[in-house]
Amino acid sequence: MNRQNTVEKEFFLEGKGLQTGEPVKVFFYPEEENRGITFIRGDLAGKPAVTLGGMSELDNDRRSKIGFGGGNYVETVEHILAALWGAGIDNVKIELDKPELPAMDGSAIQFLEAVKENGIKPQSAERQMIQIKNPIWVERKESFLGIFPSDVFKISYILEYQNKAIGKQFFSGVLDADIFLKEIAPARTFCLKEEAEALVKSGYGKGADFKNTLVMDENGPIDNILRFPNEPARHKVLDLIGDLYILGRPVKGRVIAIRSGHQLNLELVKKIKSQCINSKIQMTKSK
Ligand SMILES: [Zn+2]
Repeated sequence: MNRQNTVEKEFFLEGKGLQTGEPVKVFFYPEEENRGITFIRGDLAGKPAVTLGGMSELDNDRRSKIGFGGGNYVETVEHILAALWGAGIDNVKIELDKPELPAMDGSAIQFLEAVKENGIKPQSAERQMIQIKNPIWVERKESFLGIFPSDVFKISYILEYQNKAIGKQFFSGVLDADIFLKEIAPARTFCLKEEAEALVKSGYGKGADFKNTLVMDENGPIDNILRFPNEPARHKVLDLIGDLYILGRPVKGRVIAIRSGHQLNLELVKKIKSQCINSKIQMTKSK
């Protein structure tokens, strides 16, 4: 039987937010079984908290935000959530002293390594999965994202950019902890050189640099070397895993994604949520 897990002990990480450039400290605390993943804004009066899996407020543009109401939020949650998925963590409290999670190296690997180094504690309750029973999809212009019934969690992702250094890329595979660690977690965030310039002009990307973000021109990443030839496609898979974990439980299904990003990812999350709430039978215990 597959059991729930939490972190063995309290620990913290420090870094700067990718968008805000602000230094941020993020604390991880063990949580009791069946309590889920909770984000806490420790810097705000009354320390507001949001537990994933409910109809928590979702907001998104280029990145994933979790709202607390009252205009307060945490943003850029997708990499830490992907790492928690990869570590099999079901229950944890994550407290921040700023609205944005630290960028670390732009991937999920440092979050994942920190969780593993500090220890993963098995709990006695059985892991709850979301089993997809019927096809669910969302689409917009040239983008498509669908999830279909399957006994395994598998993602096939097609990326397509006009930029010559990115072009068409593909990643497909059954995702488990081991494959995630080796093939997906180290893939870093990326953007086009012109996007980076526009983002900085509009006041975002203040914590981004050529090390934590692959800034792509026509020849490849500026002042950096790719970890995988298709690192951008792999990073899109990482984001998708993190965004799906906003559901608060691992999802079992066959995912097909064509040029999908946070916006479409979160539309799918909302659709899965509403179907799960309408039909309790989709929530099943893992084998
Ligand atoms: Zn990302």
